[in-house]
Amino acid sequence: MKLHILLTTSLLFCATFLSTAQEETPFKGNTSVTYDEAIAQYQRMAQTHQGTFLMEYGKTDVGRPLHLFVINKGGDQDPNEFDNSKSVLFINNGIHPGEPCGVDASLKLARNLLNGGERYNKLLDSTIVCIVPIYNVGGSLNRGCCVRANQNGPEEYGFRGNARNLDLNRDFIKADSRNAQSFFRMFQDMQPEVFIDTHTSNGADYQYVMTMISTQPDKASEEIGSYIRNEMSPALFATMNERGWGMTPYVFTLNKIPDNGIKDFLETPRFSTGYAALFNTIGFTSETHMLKPFAQRVESTYQFLLASLDYMYAHNTELIQQKERADKAVADQKTFELNWELDTTSFRKIPFNGFAATYEKSKVTSADRLKYDRSQPQTINIKYYDTYQATETAAAPAFYVVPQAWREVVDRLKWNGVELTQLKKDSIAQMRVYYIDDYEAGRVYEGHRYTKATVVREVVEEVQLFKGDYLVEVNQTANRYIVETLEPKGVDSFFSWNFFDSVLQQKEWYSDYVFEDSAAEMLENDPALKKEFEQAKKEDKELADSPRAQLYWLYKKSIFFEGTVNRYPIFKSLN
Ligand SMILES: [Zn+2]
Repeated sequence: MKLHILLTTSLLFCATFLSTAQEETPFKGNTSVTYDEAIAQYQRMAQTHQGTFLMEYGKTDVGRPLHLFVINKGGDQDPNEFDNSKSVLFINNGIHPGEPCGVDASLKLARNLLNGGERYNKLLDSTIVCIVPIYNVGGSLNRGCCVRANQNGPEEYGFRGNARNLDLNRDFIKADSRNAQSFFRMFQDMQPEVFIDTHTSNGADYQYVMTMISTQPDKASEEIGSYIRNEMSPALFATMNERGWGMTPYVFTLNKIPDNGIKDFLETPRFSTGYAALFNTIGFTSETHMLKPFAQRVESTYQFLLASLDYMYAHNTELIQQKERADKAVADQKTFELNWELDTTSFRKIPFNGFAATYEKSKVTSADRLKYDRSQPQTINIKYYDTYQATETAAAPAFYVVPQAWREVVDRLKWNGVELTQLKKDSIAQMRVYYIDDYEAGRVYEGHRYTKATVVREVVEEVQLFKGDYLVEVNQTANRYIVETLEPKGVDSFFSWNFFDSVLQQKEWYSDYVFEDSAAEMLENDPALKKEFEQAKKEDKELADSPRAQLYWLYKKSIFFEGTVNRYPIFKSLN
C-alpha cells in the first residue's frame, strides 16, 4: 500500500532534552501559538516519545521547511516500513493562518495521545497519525490582530495569503506554491485513509460551534461516496452530539440565511479535500464558527479530531479494505466525471439550531440590514440540498501522450505519483486530438486566468511525437488525477488553470495585398471551393459584409494556414 519513497526527510534533533511536563503547555484561552512555538512543541514531543517523528518535507515559499509530525506507535518514520494493518489519519492545519483553531487543537491531540493514558494511547494501535503543524508557513509568520474582520479572536493570528499572496486552499492542482509541491510528496508517501483540513468559517450566525464539510459524496468514487454519506458522516455527527458539541453541515446558504436552506459545498480538486478525493481519501473540512470564543473553537476542533480517530479505531479494517477496493476499481474505471452541478430539486429536511433573522433600517447605508437575534434561539427544520449531478464526463483513453514541452504538466504528474514512460524514438501517430473552438477567460484569480473550454471538438489526426515525450497510461490508482487534470473540460483541469494559453494564439499571418493574388488563384483553380465560398457568404452576413473576413476565410482554407491554432497539445490514444 505504501509504495512511494520518502525522498528527503530528516529527523530534527533538539539541542536540549526537555521533560514531558514541559510538553503539557496548557491552552491559553484567547491566544494561539506562533509558528516557532508550535514547531518547538512538536520537536520536544518527537524527542521524548518513541515512534514519534518531526520530519521536513521540502520547503515552503517563505523559505522555511514544511513539517510533518508523525506518530507511528512502535514503528518507523519511513512510510515504506509502515504496518499495512494500520490506517492513516492526516490532519492539515493553518492553510488559512487566520483560522488557527486546528493548530492549537492538534497540539492538544498529540499531547493527549502521547501522555493521556490508555483511553488515548490505544487509538495509536491501529492508526498512524500525521499532523502538518502549520501548512501556510509564510502566512503564519505574517501575524497581526485584525485582518479577520468578522472573527472573535484569537488576539493574534496569521494572514490568509502565503508568501506569494496565494490562497493555498485553491492551489492543489495548479501548485504554484512550493508548499503544495512539498505537500504532494508527503500526501503520496502517507496515502491516508482519512484527511482533515481545519478552518474557521465566515457567514451566517447560528448556535453551533462546529460545522463540517465532507468530501461531496456524489463526487467521490461510488463506494467511498456512499460510505461517507451513510456511515462515517452520520457517525461523526452523532458522536459530536453525544459529547456536547452538536454540529451541523457547513452552513453554505442557498439564499442569504440558513432558514432558506443550505447546500453541500462542492470541493473541487483545487481544494485540499477535493484533491484528497482524487486518491480515494475520505476528506473532512472542520469549520468552526467565527463568532464563538477561540477557546471553544479550539476545543470543538479537538473533539472533532478525536471523534474521527475514535471512529477510525472502531472501523480500522473496514477503512483500509475500502480504500484498497476503491483504488483497484479506479484503475479499471472507463468513464470519469469532470464537473458537477447541484440538483436543486433534491433535498432532505434537517433540524437546525439557529437564531431568528431580523431586518432593520441600517444606520450606515440606505438599505435595511440583516441581524441575527441571539435572544431568539430557534430550532427549525431546514432544507439541506446535498445531491450533485455530473455535467461533464469523459471516456478514458488507454493512454495520453504529454509532449515534453509541457514540463509544468509533467512535473505535476510526477509529484503526484503518476507513472510515466518516455517514448524511445520519434514517430508520427494517429491520435485523438481536441480543438478548443471556443472558451471564456475570466479575470485574474489566484495568479491565473481561469479559462473555461466551452466548445471542444474531437478529431483523429496524425501528430508528430518526439523521443522523450511522456506516455501516461490510464490504468493507475492515480486515474482520477490523470483524467480530471488532462481533460480540458475538467473543472480544475490544467487547461482550466490556463496552463495552455500559448496554444490559443495564431502565430503566422499574411499581408492582404499579397494574399489577394493567392486567394484569386485558389478560387479559379477550385470550383468546389468557390461554390462553398459563395454559399458561406449567403449564410453569414458578417462574412458577406467584410472583405477582411472573406480573405481570412480563404486563408484558413489555404495551404498557408498553420492549422494547429487552438489545438489542445495533449493527445489521446484511439482506444
Ligand atoms: Zn478557511
